[in-house]
Order: sequence, then C-alpha cells, then structure tokens
Amino acid sequence: MHDVVIAGAGPVGLFLAGELALAGCSVLVLERDDALSSPWKALPLGLRGLNAGSAETFYRRGLLDAVIGASRADATKVGAAPGAVEAPAPRDVSHFAGMGLDAADIDVASLPYRLPSPAMEGFMTSLEAVGTVLAERAAAAGVHVVRGAAVTAVTQEDESVVATAGGQEYGARWLVGCDGGRSTVRRLAGFDFVGTEPLFTGYVAQVDFADPDPAKLPFGFNLTANGMYLRTPFEGHLGMMDFDGGAFDRSQPLTREHLQDVLRRITGTDVTLNGVHRASSFTDRAMQVTTYREGRVLLAGDAAHIHSPLGGQGLNLGIGDAVNLGWKLAATVHGTAPEDVLDTYTGERHPVGAAVLDWSRAQVATMKPGPNAPALRRLVHDLMSTPSGTTHVHRQTTGLFHRYDLGGEHPLIGCTAPDFRYEDGTSLGKLLRQGQGVVLDFSRDRALEPAARRWNGRIRYVPGSPRDDLGLSALLIRPDGVVAWAGEHPDDRVMFERAAARWFGSAED
Ligand SMILES: Cc1cc2nc3c(=O)[nH]c(=O)nc-3n(C[C@H](O)[C@H](O)[C@H](O)COP(=O)(O)OP(=O)(O)OC[C@H]3O[C@@H](n4cnc5c(N)ncnc54)[C@H](O)[C@@H]3O)c2cc1C
Repeated sequence: MHDVVIAGAGPVGLFLAGELALAGCSVLVLERDDALSSPWKALPLGLRGLNAGSAETFYRRGLLDAVIGASRADATKVGAAPGAVEAPAPRDVSHFAGMGLDAADIDVASLPYRLPSPAMEGFMTSLEAVGTVLAERAAAAGVHVVRGAAVTAVTQEDESVVATAGGQEYGARWLVGCDGGRSTVRRLAGFDFVGTEPLFTGYVAQVDFADPDPAKLPFGFNLTANGMYLRTPFEGHLGMMDFDGGAFDRSQPLTREHLQDVLRRITGTDVTLNGVHRASSFTDRAMQVTTYREGRVLLAGDAAHIHSPLGGQGLNLGIGDAVNLGWKLAATVHGTAPEDVLDTYTGERHPVGAAVLDWSRAQVATMKPGPNAPALRRLVHDLMSTPSGTTHVHRQTTGLFHRYDLGGEHPLIGCTAPDFRYEDGTSLGKLLRQGQGVVLDFSRDRALEPAARRWNGRIRYVPGSPRDDLGLSALLIRPDGVVAWAGEHPDDRVMFERAAARWFGSAED
C-alpha cells in the first residue's frame, strides 16, 4: 500500500507527487494517457503563462531554471521568435479581459515587504516544458507513474482508499484527484461541484489561413462586437470566444467549416481557413467544489475548480493548491501534523479559487456583446488607468499578494515570505528547497535557537544577519513559503513556539 495515490499526471499531479516524495512519502501516480508528450502540450497549443507566484514556487524548489530552459527549448523546436517564452516585457505585466497594465503605474510603495528575487515576474511556457521538468523531478524522487491507467472506481475505508485503474486495484492511505476539469475522482467520491453556467464557447486551434496578412486579422487580443479572437506570435495559433451561451455541442467533431463560420462571425470578415491541424473547445463554466476533501480523498488543480482561461490563472491556481497541500498531507501521513492541519487546505485554498472564478466571471462580463459590456469596460478601463487600479489588478494576478487568514497581527503572516538574503548570500528561496519549514533568526544572540531545535527535522533553524532590514527579529516560514509567524522583538520565543506547534505539531522534549 502506498502513502498516497494521485490520479492524473498533469502539471498539478506531478508537482504534488514531487512534493510528497520530497517529504518522504511513497507515491504512485495513475495517468489515463499513454504518453507525456502530446501536440496539445507542446507549443503552440500548449502555450501557458505562469505568474510570479508560480515562478517563486518553482524557484523555492530549485526548478525555475529548468522550467525556463525547457520552455526555451520547446520554443526553439517550433522556430518561435526569440523572446516568445521570455518573461513579459515590463509594460505587459498582465491584463484584464485584454486591457493591459502599465507597470510604471504600479504603486510599489503600497506593496511592502517585497525583496528582489530571481522570481519577480511570470513568464510564458508550455505544458510540455512544465510537465517534462516535473516528471523528471518526481521520477528522481522515486515516484512511479503508471500510464494508460484511467481511474474508474474509488472505494474508501476507514484507514485506506482503493483506486481502480485498468482493472487493477491500488491501495493507499490517501487519494488525490488531480485528474483535470472533468475529474472522475471528483464524481466518484461524491464532491459537490457548484457554480455558474457559461456565456460562451471558446476555441483554440492551429490552422492555415488562406490570407495570413495581419492587416486583415491582427495579432493579439481582438475584441469585436460579436466576441473575441486571439492571434499569438505562433503562426496559425488561434483562439476565439463565441458568445453562444455555451450552446455548441462539444462532443461533436470540430470541422474547418464550423471554425471558419465562427471566425467570420466574430471578425466580420470573409476570412478563409485552408485547413485545421488541431482544434478543441472550452467554455467559461465557472465551478468549484464546496470542499477540497471528502474523507481520504482530496482534490487539487482543475479537478477542484474550472473557469475560463481568460487571464491565464488555472495552472497557477493548481500549482498553488499543490504546494499548499503537499507538506500538510505528508505531515499527516507521518503522523507529525496537528489534527486539523489537513483541513486548512480547504480553508486556505477555497477562497483563492473562488476569487479566481470571480475574476474570470468579471472579465467575461466586460466582453459580452451588447450595449452593457462596453459601458462596463470603459469604467474598468478608467479605473485600471489609475495607480491604485493598476496596483489592484497587479495584486490579483501576480500571485504574490494573497494573504491566508492564519490569525496573528503582523501583516506578513499568511503571505508568501520575501526572499530574505543573509550577508553570506544564502537566500530563503534556497533554504526552502528541501521542503522543510524554516526559521530565520535575525537576533544577535540567536534567541530562538534552543526553542527551534525542538522541531529539528521539521523546521530548519537558520541564524544570521539579513541584508535588508524589514524591522523583523525572526520569521517562521512554512514549507510552502508562507509566513506562519513574524517576530519584531528578540524575546518573542513564546509566540514562536505557539506558531511552530500550530503548524508543525508537538515539539520534542
Ligand atoms: C486554451 C487554454 C489556455 C490556458 N492558459 C493558461 C495560462 O496561460 N495560465 C494558466 O495558469 N492556466 C492556463 N490554462 C489552464 C491550465 O491549462 C489548467 O488549469 C492546467 O493545465 C490544469 O492542470 P491539472 O494538472 O489540474 O489538470 P490537467 O492539465 O487537465 O491534467 C489532468 C491529467 O489527468 C489525467 N486524467 C484525466 N482523467 C483521468 C483518470 N480518470 N485517471 C487518471 N488520469 C486522468 C489527464 O490525462 C491529465 O494528464 C489554460 C487552459 C486552456 C484551455
């Protein structure tokens, strides 16, 4: 029996598998598809934007350079223009329904406690690049992935759970469904999945244009009176939003004629498609499970929440789920976690998911054909053109400024920790690579050392003098990089011990 079986070797399942293995759990991944590679994951169809929050998570596990390197290699394979997968240019940090932000308008002073790090910005990548790096990391940590093994049944017992795939039964103490938006695990385990119905059918395709002249069909995000179409720098890569109320029957094959009709209607032109290499559809259905845990079954990534890809948040959200869940589930497996720690997974991640769903709904509302959306759009545009509006959108999309409600007074508690550096160059990002908690003790007399040593193995004690003084005497940082406690006085030992016990369980005497 494994500690954890994960259904789905998408980016979220693979990242979670790596986290659990890093923490010493035995992990088996069951994946429906036979191969990791697919034209849907490679560029251009697999093009995805990662925000700074995901970049930071990869940096804290030593994966950032590998993901960026693999993204570049994938871009080279398809002959993409240099820079196609680089970090976005400073003036193009993010967008809301296609309305871009001007980074110069971000009110940096209102975003305190940020320190420079190698992960200040997001970047473009591909599902293939991310998947390859995460699969290698998981394999190196001893994770076994069974391919061609779709989970078809789930049975829960008091102390275990059994997943059936390919006619074989796989027992584990815990099962995590990372099996995507149409999750079988979600259905089989009886999760409630609630939300709003779609306003549009979206399409993503790789096509041959009869006349690829950008003067006729411009590149970028083009909003028209009838919908939206997107041309990326990758030749023939096309996205569309058709406000049909989600009426298109997505089980039928996507023909060249249908895509051409939709494109002509949206663009109001006589554009002709000579051919369609690949195409798929999606909608803006925005749904989320009401809890991320039912007994011994948990969900992460698209299995827990779906929404339109507008603004590119789904993968970021899923990586955030996985880094939040991994250490909590591992500590539960090892029996070191306080009893309710696993339930904080829903408590912390459900509100973040709900906010992303709302963000997606709000964008769709400003794009819907008709007289109301343009008025709303003008209003949003005006607000976004102010420093506080720009800063607000930046806060929402960058993935660095969410605050979990962990209690505690200091404004850093519940936020992702700034990348503190010691005088010797040691950075927090590197200290977190082994997936342990970290206590940074900035006091001259190593005030927290005796207390911190009582959590040896779970919390890494690192004394030193920080390069940047943010007025703190010490910090306790969870394995997911979130600040659990921030001290301002060297004699804060009792508060530290309370926070350490809250997140890491009883101390050793
Ligand atoms: C057009 C488009 C553009 C997007 N752009 C962005 C973007 O720029 N930024 C961003 O953050 N997000 C973006 N997203 C969303 C992002 O792609 C998803 O949120 C992300 O891929 C979800 O990862 P996942 O691992 O949860 O699920 P998936 O990637 O769907 O992986 C699920 C895995 O589970 C497997 N599986 C399915 N059923 C079973 C089963 N029964 N048993 C075992 N295995 C199973 C599947 O084969 C798959 O490998 C975009 C989405 C679309 C459609």
